Amino acid sequence: MPDMIDYQEARRLVLAAAKPLPVELIPLAEALGRTLGSDIRTREDIPPFAKAAMDGYAVRAEDTRAAEAGSVELAVTEDLAAGRTARRAVAPGRAARIMTGAPLPRGADAVVMVEDTEKSGDDGKVKIGREVRPGDNIGLAGEDVRKGELVLERGKILGPADIGMLAALGRPRVPVVRRPKLAVISTGDEIVEPGEKPARGQIRNSNGWALSALALSAGAEAFYLGIARDKGSSLRSKIRRAEGADILVLSGGVSVGDYDLVKDELRTLGVRPVFWGVRIKPGKPVFFGRRGKLLVFGLPGNPTSAMVTFHLFVRPAVERMLGREKTGPPAGRAVLASDLVLKPGRTQFLRGLLEGEGPVCRVNAFSDQRSGVLRSMVHGRVLIVVPADVSRLERGTEVEILFLEGESPWPS
Ligand code: AMP
Ligand code: MG
Repeated sequence: MPDMIDYQEARRLVLAAAKPLPVELIPLAEALGRTLGSDIRTREDIPPFAKAAMDGYAVRAEDTRAAEAGSVELAVTEDLAAGRTARRAVAPGRAARIMTGAPLPRGADAVVMVEDTEKSGDDGKVKIGREVRPGDNIGLAGEDVRKGELVLERGKILGPADIGMLAALGRPRVPVVRRPKLAVISTGDEIVEPGEKPARGQIRNSNGWALSALALSAGAEAFYLGIARDKGSSLRSKIRRAEGADILVLSGGVSVGDYDLVKDELRTLGVRPVFWGVRIKPGKPVFFGRRGKLLVFGLPGNPTSAMVTFHLFVRPAVERMLGREKTGPPAGRAVLASDLVLKPGRTQFLRGLLEGEGPVCRVNAFSDQRSGVLRSMVHGRVLIVVPADVSRLERGTEVEILFLEGESPWPS
């Protein structure tokens, strides 16, 4: 690998090539997890009118003064269920029976909870047992969000609360960034699919599945194209099937072995190499190239290397296409729980286990860091980043960590 580059440089080259995709309108029911394509402002106050927040009686608060003494009795003029608007204003000495959610009648400025009242006989009067102040037990127009307010920002990943807000704002269709189409190809003569029985010397394909799952969790649309054999014709026919994709990810066949044909076949098909070889561990032979708008990643075949390099390079590309400013696994800091001795020369990404609970986050490197060991990715929730020039780190040292799943627990 002649022209190895540094991690930061490789990341920069990937991000420079990844361009935000266009915005599309989709039904609200499909918007969960999608990236909002434009700012959302309210066109009206939410809630649109002042309303009862409790079942009870809409009153003029000043009429309830000295209610505790048991001397306040008001004439009930109306019965207001949710969805009904009052026909008349509440005049002094009067009240309207009102249910939660019904618009507050004119004249009234508070609600007395039904628990604090007593019907007095059949003469349409109510006894008030507690004094209320203006504003008690009511919701005001615009108290949730005001007309014209910026409620949801472009680039936000839509969660359940956002979906609820969009519904409240009257948006049955939502502008979201189109998801990148990401095609996945596994390569190798020795690989069989999980439903097959491996013959001697064969192993099951884990990368195709793990990488497709990573693509989905990064927000892409994943297309798994199956296994290509270590033969030019087989590779070429699979690669051709990625036509129309925004990103193509291959695993295996990018190193310097006799059957590592991926780079050459990509070149034959017009993919222009951007880099091959990055000073990182795991993942050194990672390849990145372009053909027009298509970004092509050749990830190493070792399952851990494939997953780590996806997080480091493919995920940022997906996220940038989704229009996000911050890309890649969110970073944080933790204190090393035990000493580390390392071979310097490459930036290392050790699979780490978080220990204990704050305020100080402690991290331990998973005991087996070999890149074929997928178990380290199953247990490790973070990567410990060790700079290329470091050969020894003592217990208690603060280190940078990258969170592989979900968001950093710390504010950014
Ligand atoms: P390669 O990068 O093709 O030289 O593969 C490196 C190692 O990863 C070899 O031991 C392969 O058998 C293994 N490997 C390659 N592709 C896969 C895959 N899709 N699933 C699991 N292991 C793989
Ligand atoms: Mg191979």
